[in-house]
Amino acid sequence: MATQKRPSPAALRALSLLISATAAAAVALTPGRAEAQQPNPFQPPQARVQYAPDRDYDLKHLKVRLRVDYGKRAIEGVAANTLAPLRGPLREVRLHCGKELAVTGCAVNGVKADHTRDGEFLVVLVPGVPIPRGRDAVVTVTYTGGKGQGGSFGAGGGFHWIGSSPTYDKSREGFWTQGETGYNRTWVPTWDYPNDFATTESITTVPAHWSVVGNGVPVSDTLDKGGKTRTVHWRMTQPHATYLLSLVGGPLDIKKSVWRDVPLWYVVPKGRASLIEPSFSDTPQMLEFFSQATGVKYPWPKYAQNAMHEFGGGMENVSSTTLGANALTDARQGYRNMSGLNAHELAHQWFGDLVSCRDWGNTWLNESFATYFQNLYFEHHQGKNAYDRGIDGAMAGYLREARRYKRPLATNLYANPDRMFDSHAYPKGATVLHTLRRQIGDAAFFGGIRRYLEKNRHQPVETEDLCRAITEASGINVEPFFDQWVYKPGHPVLDYSWTWDEAKKQAVAAAVREDSGRFPALATINPLAELKREDLRPLWRSLLAHPDFGRREEAVRALALLPKTAEDVALLRAQVNQTAPYGVIQRSLETLAAWDGPGNIDVLEKAARMPSRFEVVRATAFSLLLKADPARAASALAAAAAPSQPGEVRDLALGRMGDLPAEEPKSRAALGAALREREPSLALTAARSVRRRKDKVLLPELRTLEKSFAAEEASARFKTEVGSIIADLEKE
Ligand SMILES: [Zn+2]
Repeated sequence: MATQKRPSPAALRALSLLISATAAAAVALTPGRAEAQQPNPFQPPQARVQYAPDRDYDLKHLKVRLRVDYGKRAIEGVAANTLAPLRGPLREVRLHCGKELAVTGCAVNGVKADHTRDGEFLVVLVPGVPIPRGRDAVVTVTYTGGKGQGGSFGAGGGFHWIGSSPTYDKSREGFWTQGETGYNRTWVPTWDYPNDFATTESITTVPAHWSVVGNGVPVSDTLDKGGKTRTVHWRMTQPHATYLLSLVGGPLDIKKSVWRDVPLWYVVPKGRASLIEPSFSDTPQMLEFFSQATGVKYPWPKYAQNAMHEFGGGMENVSSTTLGANALTDARQGYRNMSGLNAHELAHQWFGDLVSCRDWGNTWLNESFATYFQNLYFEHHQGKNAYDRGIDGAMAGYLREARRYKRPLATNLYANPDRMFDSHAYPKGATVLHTLRRQIGDAAFFGGIRRYLEKNRHQPVETEDLCRAITEASGINVEPFFDQWVYKPGHPVLDYSWTWDEAKKQAVAAAVREDSGRFPALATINPLAELKREDLRPLWRSLLAHPDFGRREEAVRALALLPKTAEDVALLRAQVNQTAPYGVIQRSLETLAAWDGPGNIDVLEKAARMPSRFEVVRATAFSLLLKADPARAASALAAAAAPSQPGEVRDLALGRMGDLPAEEPKSRAALGAALREREPSLALTAARSVRRRKDKVLLPELRTLEKSFAAEEASARFKTEVGSIIADLEKE
């Protein structure tokens, strides 16, 4: 899976390409005193030795029927686990089962069975004759759940209800599940540990206007009698770890395509279909590249990318990746802005899904590979510079964490499975794979990877499997490498020095001029801009048309560092239009406001009416207007807060009104209207602004609003906060 954090690019790094370095090497880092004093989470007592759990049986198939009652936020489920005992006759069957599930009945081969609880396990007592070794049995659990609220990775996992709290966006409804690491047990009782693979299927009943996407292939999708609900059946006939089982449901826009013979599904919340093309257009290219690089064709019968509200990052559920809807991009945010996340999750379909870490101490076998193959895709698609920058960023990301602690990449000493997903698992492991590739060469490296996947496909793996496969395929014994880099903590510390080539300094501007491709070699031109050289002004102007949007933004910043000229004012005013990249518009507005706010009010007002993804342009325009001319800002904010505007725009405008004086009339009227309208999310935003303005005139509206909120769970938070806002104002 991928979290939303990204390693920040190392400043100045690319310009150093032009500096002749006598040695490039890892930078020696010594921990600061405070960092060194923090306990190492991979040492006792925080950490304890952990192994994959013992298995009593081989789980063969999981079939889950789920009835989703969105109105009641409740699920009713029937989980049928087909399994065969591994040893002597089995008298009881232990299934992982979350405490939040209420089990209403169990059966073995259709015969009613008693059950007990043992911590996270449901213990089903086999009625009559115990199940003999190797004989299939179907263990059925009937249950209800859905009471809790699941989170994204790192926030609890489980079954998540979309739109559970009041929001102005009434279209937000649906659900998603998050299994990794051990969270599928919170909505389906099964064997929930990756040391056993099984085939799966899901039969889900949801409101009729929803779609449901699961793993594998669609079997059926039918409207139920009465037309109020539909039932959707998905089946995955290839075995996989059960944490990769997933379901997403809701009002969705789905675009279908095909790569070779593999159906592709692009799934976004209803109304977001225009974001599918800019977000996912390079998926076929990635499928082709990963299939070629690994020597193993994409292994699953379809690939769905499901962008869901309220999900963070990405999760490589088998053949059906879940992504955060906020990651969806449009063309004005940059060229294929979502490629990194998409490539990471797609690479997991081989590394993590076709083969999965047998225990969470081997998490690096999933995450380092996804991170490294994401960089390999960039090398293939964007060129070597992008790859080098990726590896450089990965190394920096690891070294930051190494100040706090160092651990082996593969370890069985850890606090809990979720703690394994750190900057060792992702960037350090990716850097180690890069080092291995450099050391043994491409033929040996990729040949070894191919053998590893082919030999272990549809099986759990541990680090020895990788080491052995590379050694067998290449003839190079990589055990010493694994001992040094994978089983031991730490990194080499080298002394290095560099020299500045004074003669080549003037070369720098020429290199920037020639760096005109869509994927520039130089990570940044900011250090050159900081020199504030008048003779570079024409270069900065020319870069306003660079194919890389980031380079264009830097060009605006470079011009901003020079004295204002009439020609540049005109150039930047022209950037504020309906097609320019959002970042370029934002930087141009900032520069124009800094040069002459009052003189550019008309452009700021124009930008305050411009729609953009996440309203980033309006947000910048409002901030600058508030500084340049509060009265004109009040008019613009009042217009944006009108009920005819989209909820996101109204929320933004009502929030910014907190920066105006209490007695400003237009915004006071708009805030009062929003409080009387009582749409919970917008009213709360307005109430917060009233507090910031210390506007006691609106106290009566606040008191009426507080009384209007019901005491039910979803509104209680709002009622409490409005109450505290009233108390604060009364103290004034
Ligand atoms: Zn990942």
